[in-house]
Amino acid sequence: LDDVLNRIFDAFRAVIPYNRLGCALINEDQLSVSTYWSCADYPEIYLPNGFTAKLAGSSLSHIVHTGQPRILNDLTEYLAENPKSHSTRLIVAEGIRSSLTCPLVSQGKPVGFIFFSSVEPNTYKDVHQGIFRRIATQLSTLIEKSRLYQEIVDINQRLAITQQELQELATRDQLTGIYNRRGILELVDASVAKAKRERTRLALIMVDIDYFKRINDSGGHIAGDEVLREVASRMTNSVREYNHVGRLGGEEFLILLDEADCDHAHEIAERLRSAIDMKPVNCHDTSYSVTVSAGVAQVFDTEKLVDTQHLILTADEALYESKRNGRNRVTCRQAIG
Ligand code: GH3
Ligand code: MG
Ligand code: MG
Repeated sequence: LDDVLNRIFDAFRAVIPYNRLGCALINEDQLSVSTYWSCADYPEIYLPNGFTAKLAGSSLSHIVHTGQPRILNDLTEYLAENPKSHSTRLIVAEGIRSSLTCPLVSQGKPVGFIFFSSVEPNTYKDVHQGIFRRIATQLSTLIEKSRLYQEIVDINQRLAITQQELQELATRDQLTGIYNRRGILELVDASVAKAKRERTRLALIMVDIDYFKRINDSGGHIAGDEVLREVASRMTNSVREYNHVGRLGGEEFLILLDEADCDHAHEIAERLRSAIDMKPVNCHDTSYSVTVSAGVAQVFDTEKLVDTQHLILTADEALYESKRNGRNRVTCRQAIG
C-alpha cells in the first residue's frame, strides 16, 4: 500500500495540484480513524502517521455518510471556526491552506480517506471532482486488497509460531520438561551426522536410576515422579546449556555432549552421578536416597562410527557394566564400528 501511495504522489502531480497527500484508515472498530501515510514536497510534516481521532461526530463522519468529497478552501478560517480540530491545527502549521478529502469505500464499506492538500488557498475551488473520485475508487480497492494480504501474512506468521510451539511440545517430556525420547534421539541423530561430516568428536552418557522400582513401591508413583523430576533437574543443572539432556523412557536418560566436552565425558558423568548422590530427594516429608548408574560412549574417530544405534548400544553396554559392578558408578567405552 505504501508503494502504491508513493507512486500516486509522484504520478498525479502533473495533473492535479497538491503539495501534500495523506491517507487515513478507519480502524477495525469502525469508531476511530488513524493517519496511515503522508507525503509532501516540503520537509516538515507535523501531523504524524498513527494520529488517531474519534470518527463519531467528526467532520469526517459527515463525509462517510454523504459519500461525497469535501473541499475546504481556507483552512485558516476553518481552524478559527473549529479551534478544537487538532489535525487541522497541525497541517495549517505545516503551511497547508486548502484541502480536498475523498472518502475511500470498498465493497460498499467505508475504509478511509485520501487528503489532497495545497499550500495555496482556493486550490480546489473549480477542480473537477470526478478525477479525485476515480483515484479514490481505485485506491479503495487497493487498500482492501492490501489489508487482506496483510491478514494472510499475519495468519501465516501465527501459523508458523503455532507450528514451532507444537514442535517444541512434541519433543518435550511432560513430567520433567526435558527432551523426550523423540526429541533427544533427533538431536543425537543430527549430532552424529554433523560429527561424521565434519569429522569431529562427540560423546553420549546414558543414565539409569538405581533401584527405582523400590521408590515407587515404598512411596508410590507420586514419589517416583518427584524423584524423576528432581533427577532431571539436577542433571540439567550439572551440564552446560548446549549439552542436551533427554528422557529416553521410564527412569533412563541420555545426555549428549558435543566436541568440546567429549574428552571430559567421564568427568561430566561423574559430576551428574554425584549431584544426585549428594543429597536425598524430599517428597511429602519423606526423603529418598537416590543414586544413578551411568554409561559413557565416546567417539574419537567419527570415521569408525557406524550409526546412532551403535553409539546408543555402546552407552547401554557401559551402563550395564556399571550396574553389574555395584551401581552408583560411571563406566566409559569407546564407540568403534
Ligand atoms: P535397576 O537398578 O536395575 O535399574 O533397577 P530399577 O528398579 O531401577 O529398574 P526396573 O527396570 O526394574 O524398574 C523401573 C521402574 O520404573 C518400573 C516402572 O514402574 C518405573 N517407571 C517407569 N516410568 C515411570 C514414570 O514415569 N513414573 C514412575 N513413578 N515410575 C516409572
Ligand atoms: Mg533403574
Ligand atoms: Mg531402567
